[in-house]
Amino acid sequence: MTTSTNRYCCIKDCKIRPTTTCLGCSEVLYCGPHHKQHRDDLHAELLQVADNCNQFLEEIKVLIHNPQKHALMKNIDEWETQSIAKIRQMAKESREEVLPYVKNFIPRVETKLASLNAEVRQNLDDCDFMDTDIENSTKELQRLKAILNDPPDFTVQQDPTEFINKIYLKVEDIKKKSPSLSVGDIAKEIGLRWKNVSDDVKKRYEQKAAVEIQKYEVRLAEYKKSGGVSSARGDKAAAKASESKIPASKSKSSDENSDDDDDEDSDEDEGRIN
Ligand SMILES: [Zn+2]
Ligand SMILES: [Zn+2]
Repeated sequence: MTTSTNRYCCIKDCKIRPTTTCLGCSEVLYCGPHHKQHRDDLHAELLQVADNCNQFLEEIKVLIHNPQKHALMKNIDEWETQSIAKIRQMAKESREEVLPYVKNFIPRVETKLASLNAEVRQNLDDCDFMDTDIENSTKELQRLKAILNDPPDFTVQQDPTEFINKIYLKVEDIKKKSPSLSVGDIAKEIGLRWKNVSDDVKKRYEQKAAVEIQKYEVRLAEYKKSGGVSSARGDKAAAKASESKIPASKSKSSDENSDDDDDEDSDEDEGRIN
């Protein structure tokens, strides 16, 4: 430990000769009592960090049992609330805009209907009508009913441009996000993601995988038939590269020439993932 004969302890107003330093703050010279105090302070600080960890752990436990409470779920809830509010506001404004037109239009239909009605009554009173009059009156009545609900001069239409922003799940591409990840790490990450995929999606990918495995087996058979030698050099590498395309779950059972060293090699060989 450092000692100094011509300096005081670095703690304010302390006149005791320093006897020691701390590895974490080596520029500060401590006397014995202040060094102990410093250690006690650090201990208290670390305790606080431990407390914070525990607190966070409790929060995570709650989330594990109730993932609906995750912040992203709250984002969706917020989007839902805001979108509904936006729609309601737009509906309210549209009603206010359309109302004067409707108010003005209804009496115009009423006037026409009143005049038709008067004509029909008059014809009845006068006994002055024939089949075609009834037909024409019926037609006019139908026309007035139709235009009441669908005025010829104005209407309410939907704008095809997006009024509410659509939300969707965005998953980062693993290679783009962390280009330095090893094949092993990527496999781990993919495994984690796979666990969370819905059954429908899993089925789709399993079908694709089955097709690829079949292709692989055909190619492997051809390769073996040709004596396992396709070109002068690099045959083993070619075979290995081909094998590395098999999904991890299948490679153990189907790989007859399994060589345990291969797995470790492939973890470090970025090139083989393609
Ligand atoms: Zn220190
Ligand atoms: Zn001191």
